[in-house]
Amino acid sequence: MASKGVFLVNSPNIKYNNDFIEADYDYQTTKVESNGDVLMATPVTTKLHIRTKRQVPKLGLMLVGWGGNNGSTVTAALLANKLQLSWETKTGTRKADWYGSITQASTVRLGTGVNGQDVYIPMSQFLPMVNPDDIVVDGWDISSMNLADAMKRAQVLDINLQQQLRPYMQNMKPRPSIYFPDFIAANQASRADNVISGTKWEQMEQIRKDIRDFKDFHKLDQVIVLWTANTERFCDVLSGLNTTAEDLLAAIKANAKEVSPSTLFAVSCILEGTTYINGSPQNTFVPGCIELAQKHNVFIAGDDFKSGQTKLKSVLVDFLVSAGIKPVSIVSYNHLGNNDGKNLSAPQQFRSKEISKSNVVDDMVDSNRILYGPDEKPDHCVVIKYVPYVGDSKRAMDEYTSEILLGGHNTIVVHNTCEDSLLASPIILDLVILAELCSRIQFRRAGEPDSGYCGFHSVLSILSYLCKAPLVPEGTPVVNALAKQRSCIENVLRACLGLPPESNMLLEHKLH
Ligand code: NAD
Repeated sequence: MASKGVFLVNSPNIKYNNDFIEADYDYQTTKVESNGDVLMATPVTTKLHIRTKRQVPKLGLMLVGWGGNNGSTVTAALLANKLQLSWETKTGTRKADWYGSITQASTVRLGTGVNGQDVYIPMSQFLPMVNPDDIVVDGWDISSMNLADAMKRAQVLDINLQQQLRPYMQNMKPRPSIYFPDFIAANQASRADNVISGTKWEQMEQIRKDIRDFKDFHKLDQVIVLWTANTERFCDVLSGLNTTAEDLLAAIKANAKEVSPSTLFAVSCILEGTTYINGSPQNTFVPGCIELAQKHNVFIAGDDFKSGQTKLKSVLVDFLVSAGIKPVSIVSYNHLGNNDGKNLSAPQQFRSKEISKSNVVDDMVDSNRILYGPDEKPDHCVVIKYVPYVGDSKRAMDEYTSEILLGGHNTIVVHNTCEDSLLASPIILDLVILAELCSRIQFRRAGEPDSGYCGFHSVLSILSYLCKAPLVPEGTPVVNALAKQRSCIENVLRACLGLPPESNMLLEHKLH
């Protein structure tokens, strides 16, 4: 399945062979040191050799929370696209698409054409990537409902599309899952008719067996597991419990109460060598879990899909702060009526979401100390209310108040209405496709032998664009600003082909 590719790079720095695309790449950074009162900025060039495996694997995706709104919607979207379905709506015929997915529905500027025009290509054609049509889906849910009924329960998709998908989804049944009522809202108990019993260690063994069985049954090369189940409360982080890999494994063996279902899923995946992505806000990745992932060289990524309100916030505040305008108050109200909203109506689960949403402007504020004092931040308040009638069609209302020149104020108010699961589903696809791609990219310093190749860090922070509260390797900066996150992805793709980063200078059009 090696991709034929739609373009070739014409450079002595790149070699295509059957197995790899190999690029020699000058990675240029600027090192800044203090020299007394003066900051010394030194350009640094690191010569890298980057190779990308061309063969894409047969990929399986296992969703935790498969029968939920996101789980059933992304499954429906995969099928609708694969089957090239079209359906009648009151405004005409609609065809399956992947709107909202950066890999499937966005383009990347390749360069300048012979007549000076910009040339764009689909992101999916930049490097060999898994085709969504080839992804095999499975998963777990504490609710036993089949996926066709789950799609109906979700009330997200047009009925004419649901009717066409029903025959394909009615035999999809979620596997029984791990359920500890203490971690999600009490109002979820009535769904829990599909749960595993046994000790925590035994439950984990069952999850590991499920992953192996799924892989064997479909003859898959690789499986990725993604949590899109309900938001859990935060778990305690305590020395002796979960701050080291050893303590965490011992705590699971001792059946310690404070180990959450999501951490058990993550640990199961790590022990199986399976990439694990967390689409919800809870602190699944306790320090012991991160250490375990590093020990086993397995990718983990998260947290919390960056779908609507937060995505806009990470654009708007970046724009304001970089324009020299000082946001002083950011107030966000949400109401939604789906099962996610019902779960978030419980205080501890809301608290997880509040934490996840709260740090999203920190990097932008920290970047501009002309506007803000050393410990100063804008007031930032997030409210979420459960209003059943609006279903999956979430309302988000934001008010941004900023100080402008000489004591003036600027207030921007945004009202956003959107089906939440239709925003989250393409993000799930991108997380999976990009995480898989990352597993085929390796780096070594120029001059080192092949044994010097290493991959990305276990904490896959390149996926930050898709996450509300990006998990990053310890001691490294968290980037929330959306444009920076996107240009990171684009420029890494370019580096794999030995192409320079997109500088947007367009000097070719600006000189006399
Ligand atoms: P949902 O309530 O419709 O689906 C969650 C599913 O998880 C349910 O079917 C539930 O039965 C199941 N579940 C709960 N605990 C489980 C467990 N331990 N194991 C297996 N299954 C379990 O919610 P949703 O709208 O699909 O959202 C899913 C998650 O994604 C939520 O945590 C939500 O906060 C998060 N999220 C959603 C968006 C979005 O735009 N939709 C954005 C960011 C984050």
